[in-house]
Amino acid sequence: MRNTRATQLLFELSKSGRRGVRLPAADVPEVPLADLLPTDALASAPPPLPELTEPELVRHFTNLSTQNMSVDTHFYPLGSCTMKHNPKRNERLANLPGIIDLHPYQPADTLQGLLELLWNLQEMLAEIAGLPAVSLQPAAGAQGEMAALLCAAAHFRKLGQQRTKVLAPDSAHGTNPASAKMAGFDTVTVKSTPAGYVDMADLESKLDLQTAVFMITNPNTLGMFDRQIAEIAKKVHEVGGLIYLDGANMNAILGIARPGDFGADMMHFNPHKTFSGPHGGGGPGAGPISVSKVLEPYLPVPVVVRDENGFHLEYDRPESIGRVRSFFGNVGVLVRAYCYIRTHGPDGLKRVSENAVLNANYLLSKVKHIFPVPQGDRCMHEFVASGAKLKNDRGVSAMDVAKRLLDYGYHAPTVYFPPIVREAMMIEPTETESKETLDAFAQTLFRISEEPADLLQEAPHTTSISRPDEVQAARQPIVAWSPKV
Ligand SMILES: *Cc1c(COP(=O)(O)O)cnc(C)c1O
Repeated sequence: MRNTRATQLLFELSKSGRRGVRLPAADVPEVPLADLLPTDALASAPPPLPELTEPELVRHFTNLSTQNMSVDTHFYPLGSCTMKHNPKRNERLANLPGIIDLHPYQPADTLQGLLELLWNLQEMLAEIAGLPAVSLQPAAGAQGEMAALLCAAAHFRKLGQQRTKVLAPDSAHGTNPASAKMAGFDTVTVKSTPAGYVDMADLESKLDLQTAVFMITNPNTLGMFDRQIAEIAKKVHEVGGLIYLDGANMNAILGIARPGDFGADMMHFNPHKTFSGPHGGGGPGAGPISVSKVLEPYLPVPVVVRDENGFHLEYDRPESIGRVRSFFGNVGVLVRAYCYIRTHGPDGLKRVSENAVLNANYLLSKVKHIFPVPQGDRCMHEFVASGAKLKNDRGVSAMDVAKRLLDYGYHAPTVYFPPIVREAMMIEPTETESKETLDAFAQTLFRISEEPADLLQEAPHTTSISRPDEVQAARQPIVAWSPKV
């Protein structure tokens, strides 16, 4: 039965209540509702809520939830984002009462278990980074970038140096120049060579005493490890600048190479990528940063420290850039990262990266005959294929291919990024996919490449919404039910 009648009854009750609210105890006098609320604030009709039975409501939300794609439902080769599995064990551990029942305002001596876990995570990240000082506070990779750049700015202020420029390659993620701007720097783009590496001549022509930081993603967003990194670091350090390592691609080099060893002064991690945290609707993420000894005094507070009395949150750091987020970070994601690292251990983490690279190279070898990979025959954890030929020959774009993949039950790869590859499709299979899944995906790409152009240009055909206006959807999203619709 629909609830219309129930709502009507409630409304009748509230109307009668206007003449006097019936209160539970007999000796408490009745107070007319109008004495509690101004009469012009009282509703004259029931709210126009949808009238639904419970099963109807459950079906509505259950069906909505199945329209979404996630790593739990589909292969999700979204390059740059490392959409690996989210171990269910991590979910259980992060939801233990000893963790979720804590409150950040509790005194530190009642938070010792959690603080020990976070302290250990700081130590492990420092080891993986090869950079000794860690802040777990930033809430996302992008915020980690900004926090670390603010530390660099504080460092140069202390030295009395006016350094205004942050350099980043043209293959960089958009957050790099955006974070530089947020931290008060001007951004300068450095060219890449056709092979996808930093153009050394262009870098050198832009390095000077105004250079504060060179931000580099290595392996880069083309899935290539730039072997010039030691040389790059030397050149940047020679002019007094610092190297920022965007750690979004750490999945390729865990336990194999450490940014601190190849010249980085600071970096961020993306636990929701590298350490298997779920990415959900833009969050929750985390963006811990690791920095060199020189930059340590500027880290955001609080930092988890250990002394003879146990673990505590240290706020007293006069040179700190201050807080970049409430409390001590996005603890739920950090606990999952801790569980992931501890589950794998040092050798296991290295195998994660080896398998991620192996899977990507296997898929590259299958895909390049259909969609050429301009940057070559080998990659790290991801590669960027080009749909330019299909576009020229038949007018089918990378976007059409991406949309058609949805019909076959695959999340699309990242498209049109990095912009230096025409009709770019950035594919990252991760270490957690089987050979069978990769074979089926390559086969599907092949099948799509042979399909009629109009079928592809109108795809997807099986989703409840086909092609929304993406700009409008981003700028003016309709996120709430409205009685007018
Ligand atoms: C994901 C990503 C970022 C930004 O990280 P968020 O956690 O999404 O803020 C920065 N750089 C690269 C290369 C990335 O892939």
